[in-house]
Amino acid sequence: MERIVNLCKRRGFIFPSAEIYGGFRSTYDYGPLGVNMLRNVKDAWWRSMVQMRDDVVGIDAAILSPSQIWEASGHLATFTDPLVDCRNCHERWRADKIAGVCPNCGSADLTEPRAFHLMFKTHAGPVEEDSSVAYLRPETAQGMFVNFLNVLQTTRKKPPFGIAQVGRSFRNEITPQNFVFRTREFEQMEMEYFVPPADAQKWFEYWLEERMNWYLGLGIPADKLHLRHHEQSELSHYSRGTADVEFLFPWGWDELEGIANRGDFDLSAHAKASGEKLDYFDPATNERYVPHVIEPAAGATRAMMAFLLAAYHEDLVEGESRTVLRLDWRLAPYQVAVLPLSKKPELEDVSREVLGILQPHFMCDYDVTQSIGRRYRRQDEVGTPYCVTVDFDSLEDRAVTVRDRDTTEQVRVPIADLVSELRRRTGEG
Ligand code: ATP
Repeated sequence: MERIVNLCKRRGFIFPSAEIYGGFRSTYDYGPLGVNMLRNVKDAWWRSMVQMRDDVVGIDAAILSPSQIWEASGHLATFTDPLVDCRNCHERWRADKIAGVCPNCGSADLTEPRAFHLMFKTHAGPVEEDSSVAYLRPETAQGMFVNFLNVLQTTRKKPPFGIAQVGRSFRNEITPQNFVFRTREFEQMEMEYFVPPADAQKWFEYWLEERMNWYLGLGIPADKLHLRHHEQSELSHYSRGTADVEFLFPWGWDELEGIANRGDFDLSAHAKASGEKLDYFDPATNERYVPHVIEPAAGATRAMMAFLLAAYHEDLVEGESRTVLRLDWRLAPYQVAVLPLSKKPELEDVSREVLGILQPHFMCDYDVTQSIGRRYRRQDEVGTPYCVTVDFDSLEDRAVTVRDRDTTEQVRVPIADLVSELRRRTGEG
């Protein structure tokens, strides 16, 4: 874990926020490599959940939202965590995450738990009065429920169909911790899948399998991923069944994603509160019903952390140890690095030409500093699957050397075939 945190800082994946002012606790900024990787995680999700399907469409709803939404959803009444104070050292903790003793000083002298509200509250407009109260959304899901009718009418979808959204959410977590695993500002990838009530269980099971396969397909090893079904007593007020996709983090199994069968709770609650009919009329059967909802709710920032942890390896290459991120090429911050063997101007020209050929197809890095061996190590460390080296022979034979991150094998490839060769290797064409 410490090595990942160091690597993230040192190589520009993730920086502590507001660092020049001493930092802002548990808030992070994504650097040049991190922003690429986080974007790749979200794109991979969007591709699998929206692009590759004809039954799911996307939206991007507002983050700032009025209290009516959170009143109807139940968040205003119940979105709290139990807060305890340590009477000895005065630290505050989430009671359900500690075993009755203060993790800071070990004292068991804790206050009774009290409900602490997790939503960030603000005011919209110049006057701070009750009617101007607004909230930063603590989840993206409600945006899909309140737009159910808009989407239904504009897309002519019918159940089973889904609405997907990726975006920032905010929770005033009592104890943010474990790097970007739990932060107050984070990104979610959520989908609400609306189904005929009788089919809800079938679709719940379908999405459990789909979502497990998404992580496995992007390189999380099977022995570090499992599903944990919630006990009846753990279920949220709306849930008829929930299972978490869990990853084996350095501190043990913990949640990556929750998949819930929410029944008709959300649409019924918003219909009641808004006075709008949030249901579906099926012309085939002449029936009107409130669809049930299956929700796979994942964290993008948390998933990125799991992909980094799973990819991190230290191995030996020709007797020398190296750090390598064995990231799936779709998630790697750079897919290709173009490395001129030397800084000589004649190599620069052809190297820039190669870079120009690759850039429309792949996210590329261009690095001319230090020895070629050092540059390979630097690319291995950030997970770049392919290095393309331009040498003096390239001027004569119009070919370059392609080096594979995982096997370190090198092959000579004509510049004219480079894009198709890299596409073939990455499995796209
Ligand atoms: P917990 O019980 O751990 O506080 P939760 O079960 O309330 O979390 P959900 O509401 O199901 O979490 O959120 C869906 C997903 O959003 C989570 O699986 C996680 O990946 C992500 N997520 C939730 N809270 C945070 C957070 N504070 N920081 C980062 N990611 C988060």
